Amino acid sequence: MLTRFAPSPTGYLHLGHAHAATQAFGFGRSENITCLLRIEDIDKTRCRPEYKTAIYQDLDWLGFDWPIPVRIQSQHRGAYVDVIDNLKERGLLYRCFKTRAELQDAPPAPISDTEIQDRLGQKELFAWRLSIDKCRPRLKNALAYVDTDQDKTVNIDTLEDIVVGRKDIGTSYHIAVTHDDMIQNITHVVRGADFIDQTPYHVLIQHLMGWPVPIYHHHPLLLRDDGEKLSKRHSDTTIRSLRENSLTASQVLDMSAL
Ligand code: GLU
Repeated sequence: MLTRFAPSPTGYLHLGHAHAATQAFGFGRSENITCLLRIEDIDKTRCRPEYKTAIYQDLDWLGFDWPIPVRIQSQHRGAYVDVIDNLKERGLLYRCFKTRAELQDAPPAPISDTEIQDRLGQKELFAWRLSIDKCRPRLKNALAYVDTDQDKTVNIDTLEDIVVGRKDIGTSYHIAVTHDDMIQNITHVVRGADFIDQTPYHVLIQHLMGWPVPIYHHHPLLLRDDGEKLSKRHSDTTIRSLRENSLTASQVLDMSAL
């Protein structure tokens, strides 16, 4: 059995990450299973190498350890493209040329072949979306999964046509995360409650691809005093700024406890 902690190097780790790391690595320790570290850096518009190095330094300073080599998602783009190609060949995807502004007015939907050719001719960029309508007839069984000790079933009618291949980076978080949980044999996914709504999409992708469905556990998020989510914008709570202010690792871990 395996679990994982999978931060994205889009900024310095903050107290919220210390909390999430404690949950994932702590779950590993309590269940006597290994917790892997994975670097989720497919978004080349936001990820930076110095933040990746800082993840190793900050987690190490906090006292966490993990097996090496660490899986670095940006080194596996081809694998994610293969998954997208597979879904595409099965007719489950469609091209979406809509901009963010256009999507405010109308939901995404497939367009005619003529319009596709026209827009491709204009060199317009497009995303690949998963068609929930096309997925529906393929679902023979209910999509069951366990989330935070509760039995759940995906309600396909509540799902939207999510982007699986982004305009800018060709792939997406949903594809990379489910592919890697499969390839790394992750049995338990321990992550923040902000990912609860993504989970039905992950279970759907796992079902479509014939991949095992891990057991999910979503932990409550560490919030600021004003109730807002901690984010990389709040530089006062980065692990490194706290360290530079002479706090010890155990003081920082105490601060990150709920
Ligand atoms: N990469 C995500 C993050 O930065 C975590 C994804 C997951 O645990 O599924 O928070």
